[in-house]
Amino acid sequence: MKARTRFAPSPTGYMHIGNLRTALYEYLIAKSSGGAFLLRIEDTDQKRYVEGATEIIYSTLKTVGMNWDEGPDIGGNYGPYIQSERKAIYAEYAHKLVELGGAHYCFCAAKEETEESEDEENAIPSKFQDPCKRLSLEEARARIAAGEPYTVRQTINKKGKSRFHDEVYGDIEIDYDDLDEGVLLKTDGFPTYNFANVIDDHLMAITHVVRGNEYISSTPKYNLIYEAFGWTPPVYVHVPQVMKDAQHKLSKRNGDASFQDLVAKGYLPAAILNYIALLGWNPGDDREIFSLAELEKAFTVERLNKSPAIFDIVKLTWMNGCYIRALTPEEFHRQALPWYAKCLTRKLDLEMLSRVLQPRIETFADIAAQTDFLEKMPAYELSLYENKKMKTDPAVAAQALKLAAAKLPEIDAWNNDNLFAGLKELAAANGLKNGQILYPLRIALSGKETTAGGATEIAAVLGKEETVARVKAALAKLEG
Ligand code: GLU
Repeated sequence: MKARTRFAPSPTGYMHIGNLRTALYEYLIAKSSGGAFLLRIEDTDQKRYVEGATEIIYSTLKTVGMNWDEGPDIGGNYGPYIQSERKAIYAEYAHKLVELGGAHYCFCAAKEETEESEDEENAIPSKFQDPCKRLSLEEARARIAAGEPYTVRQTINKKGKSRFHDEVYGDIEIDYDDLDEGVLLKTDGFPTYNFANVIDDHLMAITHVVRGNEYISSTPKYNLIYEAFGWTPPVYVHVPQVMKDAQHKLSKRNGDASFQDLVAKGYLPAAILNYIALLGWNPGDDREIFSLAELEKAFTVERLNKSPAIFDIVKLTWMNGCYIRALTPEEFHRQALPWYAKCLTRKLDLEMLSRVLQPRIETFADIAAQTDFLEKMPAYELSLYENKKMKTDPAVAAQALKLAAAKLPEIDAWNNDNLFAGLKELAAANGLKNGQILYPLRIALSGKETTAGGATEIAAVLGKEETVARVKAALAKLEG
């Protein structure tokens, strides 16, 4: 069967990692069956509307390569794909549902429910006994005709247990008594999520619904609506929340919760996508690196799991390092340039710098810490020249740097290979080990014991003039 799935984000202004993972699973279910992946914008909660938020949704999906087959910008046979443009459709079905006995008109001045339970203070207590349930339909219609504001509220008369199947959580039973008769259509004519999702999923011929497990407890309410209309519910695929740790959900407040946060911290979109695919799904073997195309081949719903998915930034960072190393040198350089621009103003051989850094960083944000000494030579202690393994101390360093200060200006083709060959020769000619020249040179050029890149690589990046100047300054320091 060709699946039709939909990603149905609310335009909140940023893409939560959990939402992007939902989108990915929706996408994979559709693509692995040769079906269609739809984008539907759920903007019925006008209070939460954020300017530009829809563009963020588009650009995130495009950046990770999850192109949609139908959606607000490209259309399709089941549009419109923005809920605020579907108001008339919801109204029509809400009135129909009242006629079918699945809902009733309500005139209580009680506060309306918000989209999700975020606004818990204002949510109607679940055991709300609606007096309007007793009104006759004629009476209710007369009040509406007289201009009284109303909501359409779900009617739940069933007793006993609701049963449904979920692809991840298995067979689920929920007491009808635990369900609240929530608002489906608000006084402003906008539907709540609880109504719109059912109407849209049905009218858009959605076959599989993937969403967070926080929606499991409401699913019987959706099933009652499907049932009242005589429609077949979709296949449900509820996925565990993405957690920060065992107790806490990954939330916007943590700072790492959105795709945009992670990109800003130097993570590659492809690595983020790969990592989140594994948060709740596994391939059944020990493979970990998957492109989107590879995920399409490997993905099966059966391998989704229900254990809470803990977002492990250390693991993501490791994976990002794998992706950085897999970039072509040209691509790495292109992506590194804006990061260099943030922390480096000095004239440097940036292409050489990219060659030094690509094998050694895990995120682009590492660039700042790895290159600070290039921008400005830090203060350091002379004791740094002391190194048993390299057989150096300040006296050896003084000798070595004096030799280097004389040799370096003679090296014309200023690149790592030439520098290395030249200094090796210098060491041999003066009865020194390579390390006895290269180690002091590294200290002289960086003020650090360890650096990404060896002494001659650093010299190549710094250029001749700055290298010679730093060696002379180090000599002066050593000679007191
Ligand atoms: N608009 C809902 C959300 O952003 C969609 C949930 C669903 O996929 O049904 O959480």
